[in-house]
Amino acid sequence: MDCVRAQKLIRPYLDGKLSDRELEEFLDHVDSCPACHDELEIYFSIYQTLGEETDDGDYNFTRKLDEKLQRSEQYLTRRHIFRSMKIVLIVCAELFFIAAFSGLVTRELEEVQSTIEMVETETEPDTQGLRRIWNRNPAIRVKMD
Ligand SMILES: [Zn+2]
Repeated sequence: MDCVRAQKLIRPYLDGKLSDRELEEFLDHVDSCPACHDELEIYFSIYQTLGEETDDGDYNFTRKLDEKLQRSEQYLTRRHIFRSMKIVLIVCAELFFIAAFSGLVTRELEEVQSTIEMVETETEPDTQGLRRIWNRNPAIRVKMD
């Protein structure tokens, strides 16, 4: 980020209207560029003086700005942590669904398999029974021969 861009973002920064990305680049710049930091401090003092709700009788603007910049940094750090946690959670959720889904498919396949086996054993001709009837009824044997 160059100075022109950074100074354009001073007011949006004080209004809290920067995106995370802009905020990150803006903080980096004012941290390393004394000219823009000074510019920011001037705007910050004006904002503090004019804004009634921010006028708490404390006019140490340099320290107040430092605190504000620190809070912005902390905000960004939290956002980073939140984002990485979100990614980890999404990956975990995906893995969970993949595992659950493949487990489900495996279970269903097993059920189909056992159903097929059951049907097969049930419909298997009762050859022993047939043979018993056969042996006990010579008449049938004669007819069937
Ligand atoms: Zn600059």
